[in-house]
Amino acid sequence: MNYEEMLKKAKESLPKVQNKCERFEMPKVKGHVEGNRTIIINIFAIADQISRPADHILKFLQRELATPGFFQDKRLVFGRKLTSSMINDKLHKYVQTFVLCDQCCKPDTKLLEEEGKLIKKCMACGTKSPVLAKI
Ligand SMILES: [Zn+2]
Repeated sequence: MNYEEMLKKAKESLPKVQNKCERFEMPKVKGHVEGNRTIIINIFAIADQISRPADHILKFLQRELATPGFFQDKRLVFGRKLTSSMINDKLHKYVQTFVLCDQCCKPDTKLLEEEGKLIKKCMACGTKSPVLAKI
């Protein structure tokens, strides 16, 4: 076996980490633009679906979208025009980071703090993984 073949073999044996949770059906925002604002009408339904507080999701979205947001009449209002795909991208990043188990991709996880670090613990398979993103 020459060097290039060895390299190829080594690459093939690497675990594939991308898109391994693609079977999980990601929530999608529903909303519309009103003037210079973007209104999301189903943020509390999404929060229920993924068992995370809506204000935690909002903090993440605000930072990722660099846009202030607030709740009004059970809706989420952002202070500028955003497309739903921009918001969904960030929402999916949130779900991947804070909700889905790194091991089995189930959403039955809890966030814990251990030794000052944020840990995502899976109730389905028991895997604990550190959450590296900060809010
Ligand atoms: Zn798991």
